[in-house]
Amino acid sequence: MSKKEDDKINLENRIIKPEYSSEDAEVELSLRPKTLSEYIGQEKVKENLRIFIGAAKNRGENLDHCLFYGPPGVGKTTLAGVTATELGVNLRITSGPAIERPGDLASLLTNLGENDVLFIDEVHRMSRNIEEILYPAMEDFGLDIIIGKGPSARSIRLDLPKFTLIGATTRAGQLSPPLRDRFGVVLRLDLYDPESLVEIVKRSSRILKIDCDDDGAREIAIRSRGTPRIANRLLKRIRDFTEFYHRGTITKETADLALQKLDIDHLGLDLIDHKMLLTIIKNYNGGPVGIETLSAAVGEETVTLEDVYEPYLMQIGFLTRTPRGRCVTDLCYEHLMIKKPGL
Ligand code: ADP
Repeated sequence: MSKKEDDKINLENRIIKPEYSSEDAEVELSLRPKTLSEYIGQEKVKENLRIFIGAAKNRGENLDHCLFYGPPGVGKTTLAGVTATELGVNLRITSGPAIERPGDLASLLTNLGENDVLFIDEVHRMSRNIEEILYPAMEDFGLDIIIGKGPSARSIRLDLPKFTLIGATTRAGQLSPPLRDRFGVVLRLDLYDPESLVEIVKRSSRILKIDCDDDGAREIAIRSRGTPRIANRLLKRIRDFTEFYHRGTITKETADLALQKLDIDHLGLDLIDHKMLLTIIKNYNGGPVGIETLSAAVGEETVTLEDVYEPYLMQIGFLTRTPRGRCVTDLCYEHLMIKKPGL
């Protein structure tokens, strides 16, 4: 692949990435559902959560600590906000890497009110010494503080209000076992089916006052990699194209035109996906190939390939993970219109 094409990948790449970007900030607040009934899809998760929230409210107690895990952009932060709203309590938001010193955590915890929710995003990236302070806080709602230094140092225990910790992670497997065991509720958020994404696109276009017909919404939905954040981002980009070409409404045709210009194919795959799949096919005969080798060939970090690209490629049945590495499927050969060797 030429340098020019590589540069293009790096640029276009940003549109499809499900991670939060500053570009999302302007509309994020208005688009985030506030209640369980506004939260689209993830029926099983909602059903469970509704029961646990109801029970906690009836008893007048804090909700058990919850762990939400799933790929980026599928609604973990949103669901934490929804949980706090449904409980009728305050929400405080932080992230694992942002809690640097024990004092940071102490100040967050001591400022919570009774039954409040503390949301820690990327909870797997919290440092070990912070985790250790968190254990007694989660279990006994107490905070052990060391006062003084050397032989005269002593520990005092501060009582905390009963609170709910909601942790979010893209990698539940990377959580240390003692931390994982302290979450009473563990809920997995999956990529969305096209029907739910159609609803999300329609809801967002209503809020943002973007004219988008049913077929236009469907086109965006099936090209959003099962991810609401990407669906919302594509909707805004396609609006720009639609305005530029003086077309009033987003239709299947205008959506397709814009997405072609953004190098997003009709299944939502971008140039990185193509590069990854073509590398496996052309350099490794369809696989298996190890993730490290693939990462070097594609020029993306292994975590990005694992968290961002692979879940969708596996969901649509293009890629399989075997103990010996990644393999592409017959469906993938068909989509790329490449003849499988030996056929
Ligand atoms: P995560 O925390 O998993 O990275 P977010 O909660 O930040 O994802 O969700 C990204 C965006 O997608 C939100 O701003 C929201 O607008 C939208 N979104 C996520 N889940 C839903 C949903 N179930 N229904 C409607 N919109 C959603």
